[in-house]
Amino acid sequence: MVYANECGVSEHVRRSSFRVVVAGGGVAGLEALLALRDLAGDRVELKLVCPEPEFVYRPMAVGEPFGRGHAARHRLVDIARDLGVTPIAEALDAVRADERTAVTDAGREVAYDGLLVAVGAHSEPVFRRALTWTPESDRELFAGLLADLEEGYSKRVAFVVPPGVASALPAYELALMTAWQAWGMNQDDVEVAIYTHEEAPLGLFGPRATAAVRQELVQAGVRAETGVYVAEAPGAPGELVLHPGGRRLEAQRVVALPRAAGPALRGLPCDARGFVPTDPHGAVPGVAGVWAAGDAIAFPVKQGGLAAQQADAAAEAIAAAAGVDLEPRPFRPVLRGMLLTGRGSAWMRQDLGGGAGEGEAERHALWWPPTKIAGRYLSPYLAALDGVDAVDAPTPPGEPVQLDLERELPSAADALRRASLRSEETRRGCARGAPRLAAEAQPGATLRLNAPGHRAWLH
Ligand SMILES: Cc1cc2nc3c(=O)[nH]c(=O)nc-3n(C[C@H](O)[C@H](O)[C@H](O)COP(=O)(O)OP(=O)(O)OC[C@H]3O[C@@H](n4cnc5c(N)ncnc54)[C@H](O)[C@@H]3O)c2cc1C
Repeated sequence: MVYANECGVSEHVRRSSFRVVVAGGGVAGLEALLALRDLAGDRVELKLVCPEPEFVYRPMAVGEPFGRGHAARHRLVDIARDLGVTPIAEALDAVRADERTAVTDAGREVAYDGLLVAVGAHSEPVFRRALTWTPESDRELFAGLLADLEEGYSKRVAFVVPPGVASALPAYELALMTAWQAWGMNQDDVEVAIYTHEEAPLGLFGPRATAAVRQELVQAGVRAETGVYVAEAPGAPGELVLHPGGRRLEAQRVVALPRAAGPALRGLPCDARGFVPTDPHGAVPGVAGVWAAGDAIAFPVKQGGLAAQQADAAAEAIAAAAGVDLEPRPFRPVLRGMLLTGRGSAWMRQDLGGGAGEGEAERHALWWPPTKIAGRYLSPYLAALDGVDAVDAPTPPGEPVQLDLERELPSAADALRRASLRSEETRRGCARGAPRLAAEAQPGATLRLNAPGHRAWLH
């Protein structure tokens, strides 16, 4: 991409690198930064515009009320330093596409050659009188529900997946964990039910996943009503009814998933719900130099693994625009889901782009590192930051795609090495236990963890 200034001198020739601004420090934003640094090296000058100081591993928030994991947090300034990215702690407010300028909420104008919009989606409650679950929900609210169960005040709990919810998975996790928790409290007369518009439990993941989830539900004693639409009763917002039929939803406590709403950014096109349209390479149609990825785009399924795949496709397209000799590959959605069942986890995989197959469902990891969000670059990077608890799990069977980071993703390996050393230092400062991660720091040395090596299997 070459622009001529008023003197006729090519900007691209004058500047040595292509300026990329990534808005959003979540799954899609970080995956794109890692991918760009790897694919384009010093050809790209990277800036991260994000108002939040931390990357939060939101999917694990479902485990927090049950003491089954937590949403890990990482400071974005540290990640930016690892990757040679300039952080700007402000929100993207508008895009002046004609001038290739991103404007922040503080009025700062940030010039770009390529902009990646990865600002995620907002969560909107669907029902006025239900407890709406989001990873940011007040933990005390759910803890209060569990306390009510323990003390026998509540006996019927409903988990609702309202129409328009882009990912039902957390509802199953919450229902299963609640049922097992109640059972563990000797409250074995508690009724836990799921009401969902899906035709089959987690049907998007394919028939094998549905069968596995049904088995988990039966074992936990959770009833699932599929193909139902839950709505507020006209004139009585506290009452919920099931359609078709108009039956009343009978429950003492109702927990609902939120609906996602798009960012509707000024200066960019969006659909009726505020989501940004994109082509298969993440480019925003009709807006040169702008790409988008993740929950912010108008793709009907919202999921971390998909957000990472969209970011990879956009990063390849941006790298090509920056002059890297590669053929950008389009986004080809593969759903990878890890379901917390309350007694362990179930792993599910379905190729959404390859026809309606059976999919896969196992009780062991289907990819590596075995993290909830499967990102080609992000998963191994975060595994290093987190100290890789995950590498204690058995490696997946089969013939995985194995990435040798030193050879295939050298920049990511450099970033990983820095991150590993930082997390090593952090752990040394902690009193608990011996360090679990050993990273060799010499330039060019092979990066090793204490288990199967620094590899990502995504198959
Ligand atoms: C309860 C729950 C459970 C889930 N479980 C799973 C799971 O098991 N597996 C899975 O793969 N996915 C799961 N997901 C979905 C997954 O978390 C999302 O799909 C994923 O985080 C989307 O990534 P993103 O980068 O688009 O958005 P986010 O990760 O939400 O990141 C958005 C980023 O943009 C920043 N931002 C917001 N506005 C602006 C702005 N104006 N300018 C600049 N930055 C901005 C935010 O601060 C944030 O850093 C779950 C989600 C929830 C809510």
